[in-house]
Amino acid sequence: MTHEITLKEKSAVTHDVNRYVFTRPEGLEYHPGQATELTLEKSGWKDEGRPFTFTSQPDDKMLEFVIKSYPEHDGVTEQLAELKPGDKLQMADPFGAIEDKGPGTFIAAGAGITPFIPILRHRAAEGSLENCQLIYTNKTEDDIILREEWAGMEGLSLAYTVTEHAGESVPKAMLDEDYLRSQVPDLERFFYICGPHGFVDDIRNALKRMGAEPEKIVTEEGW
Ligand SMILES: Cc1cc2nc3c(=O)[nH]c(=O)nc-3n(C[C@H](O)[C@H](O)[C@H](O)COP(=O)(O)OP(=O)(O)OC[C@H]3O[C@@H](n4cnc5c(N)ncnc54)[C@H](O)[C@@H]3O)c2cc1C
Repeated sequence: MTHEITLKEKSAVTHDVNRYVFTRPEGLEYHPGQATELTLEKSGWKDEGRPFTFTSQPDDKMLEFVIKSYPEHDGVTEQLAELKPGDKLQMADPFGAIEDKGPGTFIAAGAGITPFIPILRHRAAEGSLENCQLIYTNKTEDDIILREEWAGMEGLSLAYTVTEHAGESVPKAMLDEDYLRSQVPDLERFFYICGPHGFVDDIRNALKRMGAEPEKIVTEEGW
């Protein structure tokens, strides 16, 4: 089933990431971590649905998305960045495998942080961030999404890395086995991984080699 949603607000989160607030279709249900497919209502784009994650809470009146644009793709995310309040999109039914199964280590690359936004916000609101850790890698410090919000979440342990050049307060490091060993407090916990192709496989394999329990590794495929 598809739903028409209307953009109410758009604001910048980083130099290439926007926050979008849309109307919420009546009866829509989703859980934190789930995604949907968004399609532009523009000729030439109606067969070009792309997946994006709800960052709003299931009981919010509006839908929120946090979306990184890639102008070099000449694709949907570049078009989304051009949207203005009042513009409409088609939205498909929610789907997705990432859900909060318990406290643990959330490992994200770039826009792969999006499923963890509603999950960690919910835990922050409940005061249940104890034993939660966010390991977040980006190309540069300027690419870190919602850094101030993470800093304000009491109880959330934070570890940032960058892969291009070290920032003022963020070390340059690859998220490999050595890095993970140096950060992760124990291997019995849940691990949540989200990011581009390759990243999820690499981290999952590293965690398995380290001795993490495969059934406690929660991922979304297809990024
Ligand atoms: C379940 C799921 C949830 C997601 N949630 C979010 C989210 O909440 N926020 C978010 O920001 N992203 C999210 N993503 C990622 C998002 O779906 C992609 O970034 C988006 O589909 C890219 O769409 P696009 O049309 O701009 O580019 P694409 O569809 O990636 O590319 C369009 C065309 O550009 C070309 N192209 C591709 N890569 C390159 C490249 N590196 N350089 C040059 N040209 C290239 C190709 O020819 C391609 O046909 C999610 C992905 C999944 C699977």
